[in-house]
Amino acid sequence: MPKYVYDFTEGNKDQKDLLGGKGANLAEMTNMGIPVPPGFTVTTEACKYYLHHGSVPDELADQVTAALSQIEKNTGKGFGDADNPLLLSVRSGAKFSMPGMMDTVLNIGLNNETIDGLVALTGNERFAWDSYRRLIHMFGDTVLGVDGELFEDVMDAEKDAKGATNDLALDAKDLKRVTEKYKAIVAEQTGEPFPDDPRTQVDLAIKSVFDSWNTDRAILYRRQERIPGDLGTAVNVQAMVFGNMGGDSYTGVAFTRDPASGAQGAYGDWLADAQGEDVVAGIRNAQPLVELQSADQAAYDDLIDIMARLEGHYRDLCDIEFTIERGKLWMLQTRVGKRTAGAAFVMAGHMVDEGLIDMDEALSRVNGAQLTQLMFPHFDASAARGAALTTGIAASPGAAVGRIVFDSDTAEEWADNGETVILVRRETTPDDLKGMVAANGILTTRGGKTSHAAVVARGMGKTCVCGAEELELNLAARTLKAPDGSVFNQGDLVSIDGTSGTVFAGEVPVQDSPVVQYFEGKVAVDHDPLVSAVHRLLTHADEKRRLRVRANADTPDDAQRARRFGAEGIGLCRTEHMFLGDRRQLVENLILADGDEGRMAALDALRPMQKGDYLEILEAMDGLPVIVRLLDPPLHEFLPDYTELEVEWALARAKGARLDDDRARVFDAVHRMHEQNPMLGLRGVRLGLVIEGLYEMQVKALSEAAAELIKAGKSPRPEVMIPLTATVQEFEIMHDRSEKVFAEVEAEYGVTLDIPVGTMIEVPRAALTAGEIAEQAEFFSFGTNDLTQMTWAFSRDDVEGEFFGRYIELGIFGVSPFESIDPAGVGRLVKIATDDGKAANTDLEVGVCGEHGGDPASIHFFDAAGVDYVSCSPFRVPVARLEAGRAALGEGGSDTR
Ligand code: PEP
Ligand code: MG
Repeated sequence: MPKYVYDFTEGNKDQKDLLGGKGANLAEMTNMGIPVPPGFTVTTEACKYYLHHGSVPDELADQVTAALSQIEKNTGKGFGDADNPLLLSVRSGAKFSMPGMMDTVLNIGLNNETIDGLVALTGNERFAWDSYRRLIHMFGDTVLGVDGELFEDVMDAEKDAKGATNDLALDAKDLKRVTEKYKAIVAEQTGEPFPDDPRTQVDLAIKSVFDSWNTDRAILYRRQERIPGDLGTAVNVQAMVFGNMGGDSYTGVAFTRDPASGAQGAYGDWLADAQGEDVVAGIRNAQPLVELQSADQAAYDDLIDIMARLEGHYRDLCDIEFTIERGKLWMLQTRVGKRTAGAAFVMAGHMVDEGLIDMDEALSRVNGAQLTQLMFPHFDASAARGAALTTGIAASPGAAVGRIVFDSDTAEEWADNGETVILVRRETTPDDLKGMVAANGILTTRGGKTSHAAVVARGMGKTCVCGAEELELNLAARTLKAPDGSVFNQGDLVSIDGTSGTVFAGEVPVQDSPVVQYFEGKVAVDHDPLVSAVHRLLTHADEKRRLRVRANADTPDDAQRARRFGAEGIGLCRTEHMFLGDRRQLVENLILADGDEGRMAALDALRPMQKGDYLEILEAMDGLPVIVRLLDPPLHEFLPDYTELEVEWALARAKGARLDDDRARVFDAVHRMHEQNPMLGLRGVRLGLVIEGLYEMQVKALSEAAAELIKAGKSPRPEVMIPLTATVQEFEIMHDRSEKVFAEVEAEYGVTLDIPVGTMIEVPRAALTAGEIAEQAEFFSFGTNDLTQMTWAFSRDDVEGEFFGRYIELGIFGVSPFESIDPAGVGRLVKIATDDGKAANTDLEVGVCGEHGGDPASIHFFDAAGVDYVSCSPFRVPVARLEAGRAALGEGGSDTR
């Protein structure tokens, strides 16, 4: 018989697929002997069955019955027992955490009879009625689909009547009245009385959790986080414990270290006389964890002790939820906690020092996406001085500038119109997700580092400042008032610093991150704990990695930066810019030349200029390989625009005039060279073969530069790369011509040149005939941009904006194949060409120089495919070094979720 229900004593932390993250960890804690209220998990398999069939599996009811009686046995209470009632919580828990995305219902089991038992049992009438009204609110809202605002209005009216703002001002009588009103709302809205039968309550709640897997906001969250849609959620049913049983009860959330900075030491928030959701929702302002000592020293000590045990056991940052019910500590959740990018690096280093993990594991705990985030610019502190409005809680790092918007719809609408916005809310709820996605940064006036806004923003890598309480938010008037009296309206510019929590009026200039300054050599390794941790982990990655990392750089500045960032050479120097600017005229002359003489004159004029360019780049990279790719784009890209010329010509004709001779020749040439599909036209090696002397000029300029540097005692290492080769014959011709040029220059300068000649592999035909080409070529470099374009027949310039969004929505792919290599298609061509190429020529060097060379997931693929190096933009070089190191550890992907 399929087993759909697992008692907490039956599972463990490795069963996240079946029990979800929460269930698996509750089981783990139970089995560690940590105090966890008894309960059971309904599996993701049951959820999948339900979502597929529209009803729960037949076996579920009996298994739930058995598990419920086990909880009754463990607690000594009865579910529905009027004298000694057992109350339950029902919570979702998927494999991957989806904070606030799915349903939770607390206090299940309360009804007209058990409420009296609860009053008698606790001697706390207020608490009992508070629990009952919370049940009806949560159940009504999430299970029965009643608009939650209706309940909130009742609470607000009751508080108003008492002139209070805090729910603690309401007494038992008030809450009893609230409960009756809530019941009336349910009856009116659903046409049925609130379900009294405890078992019906639990069954409906379980189904509702299953249903919540497919709410719009959960679907959006999964898409954002790339969580597969078919995993389903588990449901955890657990005996309630109460942090709201009076002034001697507490509830809180905590981290075993600071998830924002990575600093050692427990960190958290708690509230007295409250239920768990109150802390996260920011209903009252929570107190810092250390202050719990003065409230209940013994429970605090227990908590710190358990947190230390959990960290030792999981060997990682844990986040926890706890409740102290009249002096007794209960753990309600733990999991490996989310952390900011900076904290991930800092913590990994600390944990190595503490002996919790080794360097390999530390490296596996960080990733390239996090390093990318750390390279984002920060505010320029000196420029910001004086403009600070207030300081809130630094909830998620980074610097964000944008226009204030006060609701998520506006955030989305304005962002769609190209505005950068800062979403300002009192606190956020899961309904704000789309606004948070659209916004550049998030600012809230309530809530701490564990509030919804903070947790979600950190998960998204978005800048967030929380709990900026000095700001007065008036949602009705749509204004934000600062302590200095200044008032901000929707659309006004603000800047928020998620690293310090500071909020600024207007736009604050940004500056490089310390990590970038370290790569640039502007700050030392011991500048701060983050820089040291990045240095240490990158050094380890460099020791581990098999893949080498080069950079794509076309200018001496870029080349120098790439070198500072750790590039081991240039994998792609595009030469297009060497035909632009003042040189455009020479290109025009080249194209318009009547005969050999005119063409050679134009080429002769271009050559010394290009030689100058090569000299600078080779000097910047002295001693390291520099792959120069010969001209690739169609020549007419260097001529005036065809349509503009047509207009010019038409205007001239309308005036009865004509274009002057030169203009007319340009027009004729552009007309002649116009192509319907220039990407499939006269470009790449075809240009080199058709425009006699063009490639030879480039090869000569490069060889002369190298020869000059050799004579000056330097060690230039140029390589010549032929673009867009499709067949070995194209390559052979260009190879021979290059060799001739080398010989000429050697003779002329009296030096020996050793310049390898290789080819891009960016046409499927080249990949499929790689064996033949490799017999002639000294190296391959995969141009995965073109290879993706040509394999999918997707225009790289057009389709991403046009329809990729829809393709991703339809699940045709999870991410653009221009961003991350398509392993099954383009990746297979890479693999075939690498294998065939290396089989034909054991000395063949194989690299990747398309955009994918800097993409973490692609780097893992290339490592496995046996490529020798990746080449990417200078800023991505450190990311590529890190990911290449991680790939060497055998990490499957770049994901550390
Ligand atoms: C490529 O096609 O991947 C490549 C590196 O060349 P380009 O982007 O210049 O076409
Ligand atoms: Mg290309």
